[in-house]
Amino acid sequence: MMVSEKIDIEEDTILVGIGVSPGIAIGTIYLSDRGRRCVIDSSITLEEVEQEIASFQQALQLSRQQLLCVRESAPKKMLKEHLFILDAHLLILEDPMLVEGAITLIRKDLLSAHTAVRRTLDAFRAVFAEVEDAYLRDRISDVDAVADRVLRNLTGETVLLLSDIVNKAIVVAHNLSPADTMQMDRTKICGFVTDVGSRTSHTAILARSLAIPAVVGLETATSIVPSSVSAIIDGSSGTLILNPSEQMFREYLQKKQRYEYHDRELLQLSSLDASTEDGFEVALKANVESPEDTALAQARGARGIGLFRTEYLYFNRSSPPTEEEQFLAYRRIAEKIKPYSVTIRTLDVGGDKLVAGLDLSDEANPVLGMRAIRFSLQEGTLFRVQLRAILRASVFGKIRILFPMVTGLAELRACKAFLRDVQRELEQDNIAYDPQISVGVMIETPAAVLVASLLAQECDFFSIGTNDLIQYCLAVDRGNEHVAYLYEPLHPAILRALKMVCDGASSAGIPVSMCGEMAAEPLYSPVLIALGIDEFSMNAQDIPVVKKALRQLSRATSRDLLLRLLLLPTGQEIKSCLEEYLEEHCPGVLESFPLL
Ligand code: PEP
Ligand code: MG
Repeated sequence: MMVSEKIDIEEDTILVGIGVSPGIAIGTIYLSDRGRRCVIDSSITLEEVEQEIASFQQALQLSRQQLLCVRESAPKKMLKEHLFILDAHLLILEDPMLVEGAITLIRKDLLSAHTAVRRTLDAFRAVFAEVEDAYLRDRISDVDAVADRVLRNLTGETVLLLSDIVNKAIVVAHNLSPADTMQMDRTKICGFVTDVGSRTSHTAILARSLAIPAVVGLETATSIVPSSVSAIIDGSSGTLILNPSEQMFREYLQKKQRYEYHDRELLQLSSLDASTEDGFEVALKANVESPEDTALAQARGARGIGLFRTEYLYFNRSSPPTEEEQFLAYRRIAEKIKPYSVTIRTLDVGGDKLVAGLDLSDEANPVLGMRAIRFSLQEGTLFRVQLRAILRASVFGKIRILFPMVTGLAELRACKAFLRDVQRELEQDNIAYDPQISVGVMIETPAAVLVASLLAQECDFFSIGTNDLIQYCLAVDRGNEHVAYLYEPLHPAILRALKMVCDGASSAGIPVSMCGEMAAEPLYSPVLIALGIDEFSMNAQDIPVVKKALRQLSRATSRDLLLRLLLLPTGQEIKSCLEEYLEEHCPGVLESFPLL
């Protein structure tokens, strides 16, 4: 029996969370099987045994039909690796440990089919936990997904996989991984909400890149929102409206039209330069997760790709991409973005970015653990493959290499030693590469800030990753809705850190860009230009509004402002002062960016 039974939802029920991707979505709720489930154990009588086994077998059969149906309707271009996952799920459905294990529990222990399946799943978990190989150990997630499908079919609930959705849908999930989110088909899914998460979680960032209205941190949405009810998401204010009345529906339809009209207006700026009134030129670039995102980035006015998050090439597949696959992806993006450059960041896995097929062991504190450049330096073979692919692609356009989560010179030197090795290898093989390729460091840890002047002497550029930098400086998990209120980009500690990085870079004469989400919010633009940051890279959606702000600002007055801001003692006072400044110099721009 499900404890979280569906409840009737009153008209215009409003749930408020954290708006992370603007826009209005109007659609029908689909409760995802990525939700957390709450069930209690139940037993049956001896007379009910055969009926219970029959229901279990029916649920298995239905699950099989659903999976076959998903497999058949998979787009032709779907990679073999993705289809392989569906095949694996079909095999799990026939696994004797699942099928016979559950039947034995029903027959011998008189457990309901539901309880028997969950007990069997616990047994699977115990076996998988013992497995040494991390890839195999991670396969428990496939068993979970299959068991969840069977459980839902047992209770007659709607079963949903993101790939199953056929109509425009608003997905409600406990959590969505970046890998789930990147699979979302925009023609079917018009928005999503989750119980957990915050503004700079990778899922939220991806929602903005994909222009999917989204609200996170709703805490209890999966327990109280019923499937199939109509709903509205306002991704700016962070609201989910269930069962909207006609009046509410009209109001939001108008808001949606206004939002779209406003966005079209902003797009008129796409061919103009992002120069301040006093001639300080900023290069506005896009952060992308795949070469296919380049077209949208260009359409929104990006002059280059300032961050290619290459880990997304590793998602939703069973083994890492080969050198050739990576080479083709890097070459494609470099060719598409010409004459501008693309900054390719080497693999940044770990934390909330888990990749099947990579040996990312379970850790108590994953964001402080074996992630990003630490992982690449440990897994040298994988790192070499990636560097080789990047270098080979470097003759097809303008490519820069960026190393994530560096904490000091020793790591930078180790990365450069790998790079030199791979360069020598290519020379021996007579394969061309760009010998002048620029090498940059992400500044996203407090340690990198403190040694910025040392790092600057041995690299060609900095890119400030404020998403992580704020997390690590303020000790606030960037994905945790409970501490989201402490995640303050304008905290005096952050302003001081940014200043220290820019001073370190300028003493060595290297440029500084920013690729964290702070670059995407016009409220912060005066601070960044005052610091001399002349390249902002962000999700493509926000490029026009930042350009609008920059074109009305002056660097000289922003510098005076920064001197005042640096004397203020709290983030709130700094924010109020900046808001006033923006209202005076770029009236209306903050309303056009309703996430703030
Ligand atoms: C950052 O940390 O600011 C950044 C740009 O990288 P990511 O969001 O991928 O961690
Ligand atoms: Mg980061």
